[in-house]
Amino acid sequence: HAKAEGRNTCRFFDPEMQAHTAQRFALQHEIREALIQHQFQLFYQPQVDYTGAVIGAEALIRWFHPQRGMVSPLEFIPIAEESGLILQLGNWIVEEACHQLVRWSQHPATRELVISINVSARQFQQAQFVMQLLTALQRTGANPHCLKLELTESMLVQNPQDIIAKMDELKNHGIKFSLDDFGTGYSSLAYLKRLPINELKIDKSFVNDVLVDSNDAAIARMIIRLAQSMELRVIAEGVETKAQRDWLEAQGCLHYQGYYFGKPVAAAEFGNSP
Ligand code: C2E
Ligand code: MG
Ligand code: MG
Ligand code: MG
Repeated sequence: HAKAEGRNTCRFFDPEMQAHTAQRFALQHEIREALIQHQFQLFYQPQVDYTGAVIGAEALIRWFHPQRGMVSPLEFIPIAEESGLILQLGNWIVEEACHQLVRWSQHPATRELVISINVSARQFQQAQFVMQLLTALQRTGANPHCLKLELTESMLVQNPQDIIAKMDELKNHGIKFSLDDFGTGYSSLAYLKRLPINELKIDKSFVNDVLVDSNDAAIARMIIRLAQSMELRVIAEGVETKAQRDWLEAQGCLHYQGYYFGKPVAAAEFGNSP
């Protein structure tokens, strides 16, 4: 795969690449079709606090392809991004998440749940992003205080002025922000400080080996300290064992997401413990 070869690999047009391009083109067409055929679905993965209480969910898109079965977002989100289809897809995700918030708001047990949605770079960069998001919230009646946007470090470096303006406006409406995959990108801490972020999300690549790799442990610990001193919430993703959860708690990380607590599931299954 091209990804495994790294970004600096320079290759000229060859048959393998040609096939690759054709495959991407086919996939673009299929994404467009999938939107029309309603093949996408949002799954929800619980986020819990240190008491074990479910406080929210991350919305994760799933594509149920009639022939290929479930296609991973790692496969089609990059293609949706480069083709611009992410704008349509992104609108659909926002709309879906808003409807789910409205459904959850109607029951006391789920009223306060916060949905975190992943926003991709191109989606956030578009000029109408703020307006479209606020319109969707208004139209559906979803509570903006129950919506969190997951952004990544890499998408925040391009146009600071524009990004800060957008974030501030959304924040004024009660929308919160989480920095996803934190620790895997590059961003200056001085700049981070200027952004109205509420939460750092420790990437699962660090959480995975936190008990066996002292470097990963050091990074996780540093992120937790950083969040504490910046008065941000910190949540760990990819928590798979009780031992990982307990280590994180001992370091001061009090929010968790991962298979140990629950896999991403359809909204209908959310909260139905097995
Ligand atoms: P992410 O935002 O970092 O999401 C976390 C990923 O880790 C999800 O993979 C989730 O299923 C997986 N995960 C959660 N807990 C565990 C665990 O305990 N162990 C392991 N091994 N994995 C765990 P998923 O759903 O395949 O999504 C992959 C990536 O695709 C996401 O990474 C996100 O970058 C992107 N993505 C997913 N849904 C959306 C979406 O609606 N919009 C956009 N723009 N991107 C999305
Ligand atoms: Mg995420
Ligand atoms: Mg993440
Ligand atoms: Mg991640």
